Amino acid sequence: MLIGLTGGIGSGKTTVSSELGARGAVIVDADLIARRVVEPGGPAFGALVERFGDGILGGDGSLDRGALARIVFSDEAARAALNAITHPAIRQVMAEQAAQGLERGDTVVLDIPLLDSSVRSRFGLDAVVVVDAPVEAAVARLVDQRGFDETDARARVAAQITRQERRRLADFVVDNSGTREQLQREIDRLWKWIVELAPRSS
Ligand code: ATP
Repeated sequence: MLIGLTGGIGSGKTTVSSELGARGAVIVDADLIARRVVEPGGPAFGALVERFGDGILGGDGSLDRGALARIVFSDEAARAALNAITHPAIRQVMAEQAAQGLERGDTVVLDIPLLDSSVRSRFGLDAVVVVDAPVEAAVARLVDQRGFDETDARARVAAQITRQERRRLADFVVDNSGTREQLQREIDRLWKWIVELAPRSS
């Protein structure tokens, strides 16, 4: 089983994926891989330095994310170049990790921050799971528990696709509008659904 897991910022996606990991799923974390591919020795590092120059490196020779962000912030061509270098590298590492888990017969969960309908076919997902939380709950969690400034939290939520758009992509919606205990019950319900799904697709 290859499951795509997504959700808006502050929705509780990381909490859900780590709980699925605790139940035995292999988690392929797109954010983590995105950070790894640009580390020195990573598959996108050399091409980035070649394209953007040494100015994107910090004193220790690793990527200065702030410097790169400043370059691409106002330059659309630079942003496209950055994506053209990093996205294929990220996709390849994700596909490799997923294939390893699937070969072992594990349930593999791709933890993907942004999901559009093309991702389902690109990765051959068996199902898409969306973690859904009301905007106010997501903002409150980001402010209270992750130290975000409220205006920043609201802007980040607003910059993403809407809850409705995301839910339309889902085969299963995890409702995280309630307490942590309620979320645990939703995760139990999700895991049961995944386990019951597995024999049907094999
Ligand atoms: P991001 O996209 O920023 O990584 P996320 O969707 O992965 O966010 P989490 O990190 O899982 O979200 O959750 C955001 C914060 O809210 C975390 O501190 C988490 O512990 C907390 N949280 C998640 N669900 C609940 C809940 N039902 N009640 C209270 N706090 C929650």
